[in-house]
Amino acid sequence: MPSKHRILITGAASGIGLALTEHFVTGGHEVIACDLQRAALDSLEKSLPQVRTLAFDLSDAKQIDAAFASLGEDTPDVLINNAGLQFVSPLEEFPPEKWQLLIAVMLTGTALLTRAVLPPMRKRNYGRIVNIGSIHALIASPFKSAYVAAKHGLVGFSKTIALETHDADITINTVCPGYVKTPLVDAQIASLARTHHMTEQQVVEEIMLKPMPKREFITTDELVGCVEFLLSPVARNITGQCLVLDGGWTAQ
Ligand code: NAD
Repeated sequence: MPSKHRILITGAASGIGLALTEHFVTGGHEVIACDLQRAALDSLEKSLPQVRTLAFDLSDAKQIDAAFASLGEDTPDVLINNAGLQFVSPLEEFPPEKWQLLIAVMLTGTALLTRAVLPPMRKRNYGRIVNIGSIHALIASPFKSAYVAAKHGLVGFSKTIALETHDADITINTVCPGYVKTPLVDAQIASLARTHHMTEQQVVEEIMLKPMPKREFITTDELVGCVEFLLSPVARNITGQCLVLDGGWTAQ
């Protein structure tokens, strides 16, 4: 097991992906920060010049292949499938192209990138794949059908790949947080406040934190710690699993 990793992180320009990028760069690991947003990656390069960045769209198979090919021999031994997006609507009004986009980014994009990293991981007989899932990989909420389907799909996908990689020192696991205060959630708070005619504080207390008995947002530090654990030697036999950080949401 290498003491320093080469870690490819998707959705690295914002929120959880950015926190993971900053943490691993500071720890002396080589990070390949990937995102759709070129401008945000440019400012990331300014603040962390050690970071290598790659801009591509995870909903486009050709862009995934081209981005991965551009790495040459510098393939990652750790892949963190983190990029994601939300869209909230009753199914009858859900724009079909939005539904397909959420599945394309969070499920198909994850599968295609995992498919690309596996051969070099097998060659060096080492690899760690961590998906940032969600509590919505395990339970549902209304009006989030595409997101819930993509995140549930991620768990089934990971179980399958765990079986397919049993013969190598490769693991694949999914970290499943409740709400984390990131730009993705800030946008949901603002939109829920508008549709429910509530203040943002009311949305946080009466909608978001209500199903979490501990009534606290999960922090990016907690997620970073869970990913660190999954990369550590004691986790080498943990594969195909979910690590759930939900303040007791699913214990009820
Ligand atoms: P975020 O919006 O802050 O960051 C998501 C990143 O993904 C953005 O930088 C965005 O540009 C990138 N991205 C979106 N579409 C892309 C595409 N087509 N190709 C490449 N990159 C793309 O969100 P976040 O809260 O940091 O979420 C990160 C992950 O954590 C997501 O998978 C999300 O589902 C999951 N998650 C978040 C929460 C939460 O409460 N914030 C809770 C559970 C799970």
